[in-house]
Amino acid sequence: MRRRVIAGNWKMSKTIAETNAYFSVFLPQVAQARNCDIVIAPPFTAISAAVEAARNSNVAIAAQDVYWEKEGAFTGEISPPMLVEAGCRYVIIGHSERRQFFHETDETVCKKTKAALAAGLTPIVCIGEMLADREADRAELVCRTQFQGSLGALTPEEFSRILVAYEPVWAIGTGRTATPDVAAAVHQFVRRCAAEQFSPGGAANLRILYGGSVKPDNIDGLMEQEQLDGALVGGASLDANSFAKIVNIL
Ligand code: PEP
Repeated sequence: MRRRVIAGNWKMSKTIAETNAYFSVFLPQVAQARNCDIVIAPPFTAISAAVEAARNSNVAIAAQDVYWEKEGAFTGEISPPMLVEAGCRYVIIGHSERRQFFHETDETVCKKTKAALAAGLTPIVCIGEMLADREADRAELVCRTQFQGSLGALTPEEFSRILVAYEPVWAIGTGRTATPDVAAAVHQFVRRCAAEQFSPGGAANLRILYGGSVKPDNIDGLMEQEQLDGALVGGASLDANSFAKIVNIL
């Protein structure tokens, strides 16, 4: 039985003060949540405040990106051991916004994933097709290419420690969610890719989150699909009440 995960990606939102205010509203509402792992990814500047606020709670903290080197002359970058020291347990890697706006490639996603794993972090590796790909019936091809390029070089042991997020780019921040059936079909396809690349057992244990305009009023239908092992939530995770509602539906 795969344990579900609800992860919130704050992107470039929230100051330290806003982070503290958020956790004081959010934590009491999810204190009894037992049916999923809860993860929040604040911006780098608010990670320490989030870790402190979430100490002794059932909420783990993630970073939104990481670099693959441990230290050195890489201005602006943050290494996996730095994230671990700051208290992160997870890291989002290869989000479509990083792929689109910051030229992230499958090759860099792979390097980051391996480095994060070596430091003991749990990577949440994002894949997903653009609207033009879906319209041209290339969604599976794109997901397979990203899956193989981003994860194909992992060892089976490394693969057993990652999460995948399927995030169709056309559904991110657009209010246009993939229907539960469409999402489940891609999740099943990604699981098939995992079975081919690694093993049927490894694929069966892989947790695949859905991301793309998940809200309190559509999470129910999505989570009815047994292929969906949780959600990566952007916009709706910014409001503590709305994100708590999503967590508490499980
Ligand atoms: C995301 O950025 O990962 C995301 C899914 O955003 P939203 O929920 O706002 O579509």
